[in-house]
Amino acid sequence: MAKKEFQAESKRLLDLMIHSIYTHHEIFLRELISNASDATDKLYYSAMQEGRTGVTRDSLPIRITLDKEARKLTISDNGCGMTAEEMEENLGTIAHSGSLAFKQQMDAKDKNDVDIIGQFGVGFYAAFMVAKTVEVISRSEKTDECNRWVSDGADGYSIAPCQRDTVGTDIILTIKDNAENENFDEYLEPFRIQAIVRKYSDYIRYPIQMEMPRTRMKEGCDPEKPEYEDYTELTTLNSMVPIWKKSKSELKDEDYNAFYKSKYYDFTDPVRHIHMSTEGAVTFHALLFIPASAPFNYYTKDYEKGLQLYSNGVLIMERCADLLPDHFNFVRGLVDSADLSLNISREMLQHDRHLKLIANNLEKKIKSELLSLLKNDREKYEEFFKSFGMQLKYGTYVEYGTHKELLQDLLLYMSSTENKMVTLEEYVSRMKEDQKFIYYACGESAAKISLLPQMERLRDKGYEVLYMTDSIDEFCVKMMQKFQDKEFKSITDGDLGLESEEEKQEIEKLSADNKTLLDDLKTALGDKVTRVQLTSRLKSHPCCLSTEGAVSLEMEKVLKAQRMGNEPEVKAERVLELNATHPIFQKLCALSGDQDKLKTYADILYTQAQLIEGIAPEDPVAYANAVCSLLSE
Ligand code: ADP
Ligand code: MG
Repeated sequence: MAKKEFQAESKRLLDLMIHSIYTHHEIFLRELISNASDATDKLYYSAMQEGRTGVTRDSLPIRITLDKEARKLTISDNGCGMTAEEMEENLGTIAHSGSLAFKQQMDAKDKNDVDIIGQFGVGFYAAFMVAKTVEVISRSEKTDECNRWVSDGADGYSIAPCQRDTVGTDIILTIKDNAENENFDEYLEPFRIQAIVRKYSDYIRYPIQMEMPRTRMKEGCDPEKPEYEDYTELTTLNSMVPIWKKSKSELKDEDYNAFYKSKYYDFTDPVRHIHMSTEGAVTFHALLFIPASAPFNYYTKDYEKGLQLYSNGVLIMERCADLLPDHFNFVRGLVDSADLSLNISREMLQHDRHLKLIANNLEKKIKSELLSLLKNDREKYEEFFKSFGMQLKYGTYVEYGTHKELLQDLLLYMSSTENKMVTLEEYVSRMKEDQKFIYYACGESAAKISLLPQMERLRDKGYEVLYMTDSIDEFCVKMMQKFQDKEFKSITDGDLGLESEEEKQEIEKLSADNKTLLDDLKTALGDKVTRVQLTSRLKSHPCCLSTEGAVSLEMEKVLKAQRMGNEPEVKAERVLELNATHPIFQKLCALSGDQDKLKTYADILYTQAQLIEGIAPEDPVAYANAVCSLLSE
C-alpha cells in the first residue's frame, strides 16, 4: 500500500493546526462529532429526497467507544460515508471541505432541515492533537465500497480497501502517550468524555451514545450483606434539542426559567428572558436572561462578562465578551449563529463583522426589553435596578458619556414628592410651568437629604427633587448635563433660579448695605470660602453652604475617599450663604466692628453649615471651645 504525502501547504497547515489554532486539546472531540453529525445529516437529507421510510434521527446514533488497554477512542456514525476518492479529496487536502460543497449544492428550501456545521475543512486534523495514529474506515452510501485511510501525522497517509458491515464511518484514534506536561490518558476515561460531549456537543441533533460504567447490587445476594458488581449501560450523552431553536409558542416561562437556573447556577428566576431569532444581514438565535440579583462577585474584578457562543448548536466559546457592552454585562445567555466558523480564534472573533452586527442587535434589544419591563412590570424592574442600577449609572458616566442617550431612560432615582423611585421622563413630565431645572440633591440617605436647609424653599415651591445617594450619581449627572433639554441643578448650587426679580433686587440692595459686614466675615474665614453672601433661598435656617465651579461638596467627598497617596486634594469652592431674614443675621449686624466676636460667629456658622452637609469639622476642639465660650457668656 503506497503512502501518499500530504500536499506541501497541507503539511504546513497541519503543523499550524496541531500547535496553534486550537487552545484546548479537548475540542478534537467536538470537531469529530460535528463531522459525524454532518455526515449523518447528509444521509438523512438524501433519505428524505428519495422518500425512504423508516429513517429517523433517533435511528442514526453517533457511537463513542473506548478501549483503555489499546489506547483507542472510536467515533462511529451511520452517515453517508466516503468513497476512496472522497477520502483523498477531503482528508488528504487540508482546507478542503466536502461539507461546504454539499451545502452549496443543497436546495435553499431544504436548508432548514439540515444543519451542516463544517465549511472550512480543517476540523478533522484536530484529531492529531491527541492521537499518534488516525484511522478512518468508511463505507460510502453511494457506491457501497469500503476503504481504510490511515495516517500518523505529518508524513502522509495511505488508503486501502477493507470491510464494514453498514454504511457509515469509524474514526479510530490511537491516543498519544502522556507527555511531561500533558495528560492524554484522560481521553480514555468515560466520565471525562461524557463531560466534553456535554460541554461542546450537547445540542447535536443525533443521539451521541457511549457505554457508561455503572454499579449495581448483585442479583440474589443477601440484602443484609450486599455485594456489588460493575456493568456498563449504553447511555445517550447529549440533550439534543437546543431550547433556543424551538419556537416561542412551544415554550412556557417555566421552561425558560428552568433552563436558566440549571445552566447558569442561579436559584432565582430571571426577571426577564429574551428569545430572538433574526435573519438578514446576519442570521442568529439568541437566548438572553436578565438576572434578578447580582452574582456574589459581580461588583469585583473577578466577574467576567460574556455570552456563550455557538455555531449551529456546537459550542465555540464559553464566554464571548465581545457580544456584550460593559453597561449590560449582567446579561447571561447565549448566541447561536451558523454564520460563524467553529475554528475561529479569539483574536479573529474580535474583528469579525458578523459578531459586531450581532452585538449591536443585542444591545438594542436588551435596551428595549428593559424599557418594556420598566413600563409593564415596575416592581420587577425596581428589583432589577436594585441589583444592577449602579452598572447602568456607571455606563452612563464612562467614556465621556458616549452611552448616555442609550442608558438615561433606564435610570431611577428616589423622588422627594413621590416618595418612590421615578424615571427622568416622569420627573420632566411633572415639572411645574415656571420650573427651569431638574433639581437633585446628594447625600448619604434620602432621610438625611430631606433635612437639608436648601430643601425648604424647593418644598414650598412644590418642586420635585431627586435624591441621589450613590457616590457615582453626581458624576453621572454632570455627564448627562441635560435630560430632554432640561438642565440638571444641584440644590447646593449657587444660583437655583428660584428668586423672582423683586427678590433678587431686594437681596442686591441688602448686600450693598451690608458690604462691610460681608467683607469682614470673608476675611475672618480666609480661604475656607470664596465668598460670603446673602440669600433668599433659606427659610428657617440661618445659613448654608453652596458651591461654585465643577466640583460639588458630594463630589469632593467621593474624590477624597478615592484619593491615593500624595495626589493633591480636590476641594469644592465653598460659598457661605446667610439668611437675611434670620435673627442671627441681625445679631451679626450688631457685632459689626468687633472683629474677634465676628470671627467666632463666622467660624461657628461655617462649621455648622459643613456639619449639615455631612462634613466633619477640621478642628472639632476649636469648634467646641467656640460654642462653649458663647454658652458661658
Ligand atoms: P469541515 O467539517 O469544515 O468540512 P473537516 O476537516 O472537519 O472540515 O472535514 C473535512 C471533510 O471530510 C468534510 O467536509 C467531509 O466531507 C469529510 N468527512 C470528515 N468526517 C467525515 C465523516 N465522519 N463521514 C463522512 N465524511 C467526513
Ligand atoms: Mg468539520
